[in-house]
Amino acid sequence: MPSFFDELRRTAKSPLLEKYFEPDGTVETMPLERLQAFQLEALKTVVTRAYRRSPFYRGKMEAAGVQPEDIKALEDVSKLPFTTKDELRQDPWITLACFKDDIALVHVATGTTGGKEIYVPWTWRDFYLHELTPGLPHLVDVKPGDICLNALPYEMSSSGLAFHKVFMSGCKATVIPAGKAGAYSTPEKTVRVMQDLQPTIVMTTPSYSMQLSEAAEAIGFDLRTLPLRRMWLTGEGCSFAFRERVEKIWGTKANFYYGSLEGGGLGVECDEHRGYHIPMSHVLVEIVDPETDRVLEPGEIGEIVVTCLLRWDTPLIRYRTQDLGYIDPDVCTCGIALPRLFLRGRRVEQIEIGGIEFSPFYLEEFLMKLPEVGNWYQFVVSSGADKLHVRTEVAPGVEKTPELAERLASQLEFSVGVPCEFELVDRIPRPQSKTIRVVRE
Ligand SMILES: [Zn+2]
Repeated sequence: MPSFFDELRRTAKSPLLEKYFEPDGTVETMPLERLQAFQLEALKTVVTRAYRRSPFYRGKMEAAGVQPEDIKALEDVSKLPFTTKDELRQDPWITLACFKDDIALVHVATGTTGGKEIYVPWTWRDFYLHELTPGLPHLVDVKPGDICLNALPYEMSSSGLAFHKVFMSGCKATVIPAGKAGAYSTPEKTVRVMQDLQPTIVMTTPSYSMQLSEAAEAIGFDLRTLPLRRMWLTGEGCSFAFRERVEKIWGTKANFYYGSLEGGGLGVECDEHRGYHIPMSHVLVEIVDPETDRVLEPGEIGEIVVTCLLRWDTPLIRYRTQDLGYIDPDVCTCGIALPRLFLRGRRVEQIEIGGIEFSPFYLEEFLMKLPEVGNWYQFVVSSGADKLHVRTEVAPGVEKTPELAERLASQLEFSVGVPCEFELVDRIPRPQSKTIRVVRE
């Protein structure tokens, strides 16, 4: 067994990172060619190791007639077989390319897509490298001196701990592990903690930011008096119009962060709010036609498929996220050259009305622009429906009348192009875990 200090040295050093990146971990200004050269070398390393050490990946590659030597260019990633959620569900240890004894941590999926649990095991080294990879601490723009209220779930899920690690170890900031409505972290207590500790950064989900704002309002605390530099919203999708409501209530800029339990951080929005910069230093993102499995060109919408580049012990190769999106390779107006990912919802969550599929966030965008509509709502979907049924609270001070329901229905129909009906209710139940915006009845 290596000594503790040997272990620390091994963990802290990565020849691959040292070869390509500056010591300060900048990637925002790095030439793309250099990043791509890094990606190719990292991909070869991951694939070779998976082939040699993981019976699961070796079996899949053999069945597909591909070997690590076939990866000669980045595009060759498309020769590799996909990894699916169902495969990960078969066995908690299925991706292991290391000894089971070396696993330091196991995260559990939040289960939003249904089905059996997905477990994501990590070795100590991979876990730290994966989020502290070059770029990420810069892209979230958190600095020493920042006080970060981390109101993401720490239990089971990876999100709380992942940001804890990025902010505390990567950005050298102060972290408050507030959690998200866990046994010891009610919204009320979290608001008191914010009053006492005056965070400059808040990290949470769009819906929990609303729950916190309601708890603050209940005790007459104006969140806009906090010295916030920025909010980070993640964990659930949300429309720009919903985000604007959040920004107004909290009095700060709110940027989105896109990640998944299985793949880690996959996209970081800059202040321009024009897509998510892909942290190429640890993930290779492809867009694939969900029906034909063909790799799509920039601008074409398809399923987001990810390969983790710095995860050697429990590799994730061509993982199908079931999320939809497209890539824009053009340089962003913020100046960062990293390509941007645009999200288009989740495959399983699309709403079908009269034979047309809608992303719930597309519909939310128009719904949240109606000032009489409150911050809590549900789209109620039944099979074969030819109308969009919206169950919603109304904004404070607005009276619920049949005339208002009629007017909102015709306004929304004008925007989205399908018939709508409104059910105005006193209260939508607040979520205990992830928000349910689409109810199938
Ligand atoms: Zn940008």
